[in-house]
Amino acid sequence: MGTDLFAIFGNPVSHSKSPLMHNLAFKGLGYDGCYNRYRLEDGSKLKETFFALKLKGINITVPHKEHAYAACDELDPFAKKVGAVNTIIEKERKLYGYNTDAPGFLKTISEFGDVKTVLFLGAGGTAQSTSAILRDEGYDVTILNRSAGRLEKFAQNGFTTATFETFIPETYDLVINMTSAGLEDDDLPAPEALLNTVIPPAQACVDVIYGKKTPFLKLAQSHGKPTKDGSDMLLYQGIIAFEHFTEHRYTFDAIKSYMQKAFIL
Ligand code: NDP
Repeated sequence: MGTDLFAIFGNPVSHSKSPLMHNLAFKGLGYDGCYNRYRLEDGSKLKETFFALKLKGINITVPHKEHAYAACDELDPFAKKVGAVNTIIEKERKLYGYNTDAPGFLKTISEFGDVKTVLFLGAGGTAQSTSAILRDEGYDVTILNRSAGRLEKFAQNGFTTATFETFIPETYDLVINMTSAGLEDDDLPAPEALLNTVIPPAQACVDVIYGKKTPFLKLAQSHGKPTKDGSDMLLYQGIIAFEHFTEHRYTFDAIKSYMQKAFIL
């Protein structure tokens, strides 16, 4: 048996922390594995690329999560429900697909303790999988988005939805930026006046963007709110993916002890 090979597929992938996270855990735990990055331009070539590179498992990031879903022979029930796969493992020439973004996010949120009502700013792919898991766990999720198009699916699934124009604010325990506003610009995810209504009564604010203090988190802190960026979500989705890669040989906390070093280097 040689070294087990893993990779992250995406476009772009040069910024991804996943190789560092997984390689730190392989080394620390003494597992003979190696994790690389692969810029995949054509998502429809995902399966043939996977086999050509002789991989045992991959993570998939933007923009290939739907292609990853389509490439799998078997789907975990939750991945099937949300239609997005970010982790694939190969067993006997068959590809098994999982979604670890959503359980990673759930763990991040569960660390806040007494939270029941959550306001999502944004209705993209990440909002879709994470809202489903939060609701399954009993949270009450409202989805607010700048435009109506992406809200339709959420409304059909029974979520309370609104655009900035139709929003009637209530009190939310958590306010979460699920948009890419602030990632490569200095935008807030919603008009400042609206945010200044929902942030003060909240217990805390969360951003899924990691590695920088976004305008949203700065505003939340100016209101004296505890905040969390997307680093824990990234770490936790990686730990859960690693559990699949290594067939549940290690505990969550053992993996975490090595993988979290990627965030302090
Ligand atoms: P999508 O492209 O699927 O959705 C983008 C969403 O953001 C849409 O609702 C869009 O609204 C909204 N949006 C974009 N720009 C603005 C803006 N300037 N003002 C208001 N709303 C805006 O993105 P994803 O769901 O894939 O990703 C969302 C974020 O989550 C990204 O920043 C990504 O980096 C982060 N992420 C973090 C992870 C982690 O591990 N920490 C994991 C996965 C994602 P509209 O419908 O009107 O266009």
